[in-house]
Amino acid sequence: MNIVLLGAPGAGKGTQSALLQEKLGVPKISTGDMLRLAKEKQTELGIKASQYMKEGSLVPDDVVIGLIYERLQDSDCKSGFILDGFPRTVKQAESLKKILCELKRSLNAVINLEVKVEEVISRLSGRRQCVKCNQVYHIVYNPPKKNNICDRCAEQLMQREDDREETIRSRLVIYEQMTQPLVQYYKSENILKTVYGIGDVSLVFNQILEILKVSA
Ligand code: ADP
Ligand code: AMP
Repeated sequence: MNIVLLGAPGAGKGTQSALLQEKLGVPKISTGDMLRLAKEKQTELGIKASQYMKEGSLVPDDVVIGLIYERLQDSDCKSGFILDGFPRTVKQAESLKKILCELKRSLNAVINLEVKVEEVISRLSGRRQCVKCNQVYHIVYNPPKKNNICDRCAEQLMQREDDREETIRSRLVIYEQMTQPLVQYYKSENILKTVYGIGDVSLVFNQILEILKVSA
């Protein structure tokens, strides 16, 4: 199954795509995670991307399109993929369509996670992420069993530098301007499904499974 998860920063894309990855056995591809890894390794790409990420701007389209073009050709994507955080602009969506066409593939569903602004601000302010496996937690809504330690791999959790209040606000403005138009784009492609992203993580997940016609 080839799936895109859409939604504002903090809507729950990473959380839900990790669950989908486990359930469907297809890889979750997060351009944010890929860019953070490149930044950590101080590759040319990572150095270029880091300034944009730090201030909450989008990394240039050609950079992320190139990353996705390469990644979708990896053998683990043959039976499907879950895109988290890509596409984020209409240009990226158009490029994704071309790439999939070249690979003789197409999207099965685009799931839009709808969450109000006040909720995403409180989610992002309390978000923590594992330094090793990228598993996402929340200090109140979804805490790890041991304080600041990942349940899955026992590594430390960290707070992302772009999860500071002033950066969160500029990311939300950029989302409205650059990414929100994708809702209309995928509506006109007749592929958009909207899920109300509030409530327990498992409740949201069950709604997604229902849409995908996968048994819980
Ligand atoms: P995104 O990938 O869309 O930016 P995340 O999946 O990283 O969003 O979630 C943002 C924060 O909100 C994380 O701290 C996560 O634990 C928390 N979160 C995710 N889903 C829910 C939910 N349904 N209810 C409460 N908190 C949630
Ligand atoms: P995320 O982990 O999805 O919240 O992304 C973190 C940051 O990485 C974003 O604020 C952008 O700076 C950058 N980024 C991730 N995905 C994309 C994308 N598809 N297009 C442009 N920038 C991206």
